[in-house]
Amino acid sequence: MTKADVVVGVDVGGTKIAVGAVTRAGEILRSERYPMDRSTQHTSLASIQAALDGFMAEWSAPAPLALGFGVVGRTDPAAGVWVRAMNIPISAPVDMTARFGARYGLRAAVDNDVHAATLAELYWGAGRNADDFVYLNVGTGTAAGLVTNGRLVRGAGNHAGEFGHSFTGIAPDVACPCGRRGCLEPVASGGGLIERARELLPAYPRSPLAAADAAAQLNAHTIFVHADAGDPLAVRLANDMVSALGIALANLVNLLDPQTIVVGGGVWADGWLLPRVWHIVQTTALAGALSDLQGMVPSSLNPDHVGLLGAATLAWDLVNERQ
Ligand SMILES: [Zn+2]
Repeated sequence: MTKADVVVGVDVGGTKIAVGAVTRAGEILRSERYPMDRSTQHTSLASIQAALDGFMAEWSAPAPLALGFGVVGRTDPAAGVWVRAMNIPISAPVDMTARFGARYGLRAAVDNDVHAATLAELYWGAGRNADDFVYLNVGTGTAAGLVTNGRLVRGAGNHAGEFGHSFTGIAPDVACPCGRRGCLEPVASGGGLIERARELLPAYPRSPLAAADAAAQLNAHTIFVHADAGDPLAVRLANDMVSALGIALANLVNLLDPQTIVVGGGVWADGWLLPRVWHIVQTTALAGALSDLQGMVPSSLNPDHVGLLGAATLAWDLVNERQ
């Protein structure tokens, strides 16, 4: 193996598909973005094929060693199958090697975007010096990736890391899309915050969040700013989010004894959330686990590239297991 070896990562999103050639050291030699038409399963898969064909037509050398796909929804990484998804309508399982790899004589790996991003942190990011860490993604949704003894924990059926459905006792009556009540995600995610703000606005007629919503400015950052300014609705939303995340994370720290917590996703971007959640973890987790925990840090990877890098790590895992 030379350091010029590459794999091709494919980050499949709801509106665009990023494709890139990534070296073993995590260097992106070339990347391109392509449109996604997610009207049906057929158009979605055709968009991925067109993106891959477009990239491979432009890419000259070296020949990639494998393909890696980071997707949404349920996957079976051992079988290389994208099982199903809602946001991108996948209802019939897709064998990624047969559907996309065979055309280029390459094997293909697949996993969900949070598992992929966790591996990117483990290979090349803020988790690269830790054998035990938690990657906590808070964006539109909330999910975690767990690394123990240097390996991503996938669980028996690849469901591990559904942190967003932890029960915290904060806002126990709030309904979650999973069908239960009291989950973390509807209280502590970017999408959940917006939805909950809209549901509560009629009870807070003087809240400036109504005007923010009308101006298409209702988001986590706006809610944090208004919480600092004392708006009661924003304070309620922000406090519930901080408490729920802090409690769930302290429980996770007690369970897993990580060296570090790495955070990623847009909701951390303005720096408001991290010190507040960290304070709860530091004041509620067990002393033993806390003595091993070095900190809670933002991802060191470029947020525009983390999905692509994650997809590439799946392909590198496939290459490495054959050696
Ligand atoms: Zn739930």
